[in-house]
Amino acid sequence: MHELGITRNIVAIVIEHAKGSKVLRVVLEIGKLSAVMPDAIRFCFDVCSKGTQLEGADLEIIETPACFICRECSSEIVTNEFFVQCDCGSTHLECVAGQELNIKEMEVA
Ligand SMILES: [Zn+2]
Repeated sequence: MHELGITRNIVAIVIEHAKGSKVLRVVLEIGKLSAVMPDAIRFCFDVCSKGTQLEGADLEIIETPACFICRECSSEIVTNEFFVQCDCGSTHLECVAGQELNIKEMEVA
């Protein structure tokens, strides 16, 4: 389960930014193509935050769709699929969103 390592990193980053304050809420943005399971992140977050200033913080996860730009006609395609084809028939697409895993917001006491 690679989510455990990812969540450890997230918790470490949040702790660093909180500068000793108690963290009330963390908002994560997880791209549909990131191969990260939100439920697994939630579970790992509880485990990793135990005994830290993040313990009991609300974890909000926003799943963001994938977005591709067609290299042939420059159309923008928003999708939850891994493999897509543009309306123009091209499969020459550039992924511009959907693989991210960001800490979007955090709220400290
Ligand atoms: Zn196209």
